[in-house]
Amino acid sequence: MTRNTCLKIIAAVGVVLAVLLGYCMMNYRSSDHNSSSDHGRHHDDATRNGTNYPAWSSFNDERIGQIVDRTRTWYESRGEHGAYPTGVVLKIKGETPEFSPAGKTSPDQKSFLSYDGLDPCSKTTCGFCKSNTGQLALPNSKLTLVNSRSNNALIVDKNKPTGCWFEMERTDQIQMLQTAQKLVKACAEQGVDVSKVYIEFHCGRSGGQTVGHTHLRLEGFREAEKNWFERIQNGNWAVNC
Ligand SMILES: [Zn+2]
Repeated sequence: MTRNTCLKIIAAVGVVLAVLLGYCMMNYRSSDHNSSSDHGRHHDDATRNGTNYPAWSSFNDERIGQIVDRTRTWYESRGEHGAYPTGVVLKIKGETPEFSPAGKTSPDQKSFLSYDGLDPCSKTTCGFCKSNTGQLALPNSKLTLVNSRSNNALIVDKNKPTGCWFEMERTDQIQMLQTAQKLVKACAEQGVDVSKVYIEFHCGRSGGQTVGHTHLRLEGFREAEKNWFERIQNGNWAVNC
């Protein structure tokens, strides 16, 4: 290899390295920019404090109230158009709730559940009300923690059963979300990485609901810790709602 060829190779390697360095700098700047968003700030706070809880678990009362109101106005606006969906998946993960309507639409609000053929809650048929197996009454709360057959963490109001999220009263909706916040934070304080956990409600059969009794689903909870129920049940985790 001649000296000239060597110099050309060194120069080419230099150019490639310079391009890679520039690309890395651009990525660094854009991630820096993202962290200045609301979501990023919450995430930074969570990790700085040495815990791993999701941003939504830190929302204050006002923000929780706004989320609840947003779900209400969304649902009412369906009625104004005479088109209630027979099913909805409602996700609470980031700054605003996300809605995925499913199934058919109907001008009748009451058809929301029955249109889909979902049995309403009753003491003899409802999966949550006919038995207490796999359930824990949450301390300082009227709500119940349920371990589903698929090991999902659910929060249920057994004292005041409703068919779906949109039938609940505002104060009950707020309390349910706040209970989920406290539960997830309590688990994070025990070192469980719940940073990817989010809330989901399946409404109506076409929205994936299988029990006609409102239940909050903590998605990703079982992935964070598969023995979550035993650990709470045995008092390994201090859950104080
Ligand atoms: Zn029930």
